[in-house]
This record gives sequence, C-alpha cells and structure tokens, in this order.
Amino acid sequence: MYCPRCKAADTSVVDSRLAEEGRAIRRRRECPKCNHRFTTFERQELSNLIVIKRDGTREPYSRTKLERGIWLSCTKRPITQEKIDRLLTKLEEKWGGNRREVASSTIGTDVMRELKKLDTVAYIRFASVHREFKDVQEFKKELGQLLK
Ligand SMILES: [Zn+2]
Repeated sequence: MYCPRCKAADTSVVDSRLAEEGRAIRRRRECPKCNHRFTTFERQELSNLIVIKRDGTREPYSRTKLERGIWLSCTKRPITQEKIDRLLTKLEEKWGGNRREVASSTIGTDVMRELKKLDTVAYIRFASVHREFKDVQEFKKELGQLLK
C-alpha cells in the first residue's frame, strides 16, 4: 500500500481491527519513510449482488464504481469518507438483504435519498446525473422544493 503523502511503496500495519460490525477490517498504517499515519479499510465486496441496468442488461455490483460516482457529486463539499462509507454500508445491507438483484434506478433513488440528508448540493449534483430529469421544469421543481 502506497503512502498517500510521500508515495513510498512500502507502509507497515501498526494496528488491525474489525469494524462495521465485523464486515470490514480497519488498518492503521505507518510510512517508515515520512512517518505519516493513515487508515485503510478492507471490505468484502457484495459479489453476489447483481445490478439490473436501465436497458435490462445485468452486471455485478461494484462498491468502488458507485463510490466514485458519489464522490464526483461531493467534490468540494463538507462530506467525509466516513460519511460515504456509512451511507454505502447501510444501503448495501438493504440491497443485499432483500434480493440478489437490484435495479440501477433503485440504487440511484436510494443514494439520492441518503445524500439529501447529508448535503443539498451533493444531492442536486447526483440527482441531475442519475435521475435524468425529463426537462428543465422538472429540475426546477425539484430545486424549488429543496429551497423551501
Ligand atoms: Zn510517506
């Protein structure tokens, strides 16, 4: 694992423990070169969860991919990695718990609902990409409801 500060290739694990009720391993790492300490999480991917896309085709769910999409909406917003982690873990439990297939529209709607609680700007950004507003009026209506 690379050091995020000095990019040294080797960092050592100083502490390792279970997190998120045993579904993740939290590791404290230290860079021997610059002594920078940072935390990493190792998670079990929900490899058996299948996403049904809009056109009816299916693909395996990827937390990494979804997380990247969420982060695009959260650029320069006061949202922490911890908040995103919690959001995704909570939703994955819901999607994986009920059924093994989940529609991409459900994922979009669920993420939107959770983002709305965290940050309005991030929500609007995410919604404008994933909701595919039919027209400008619909988008304005949504904005209007938020600004009330
Ligand atoms: Zn370093």
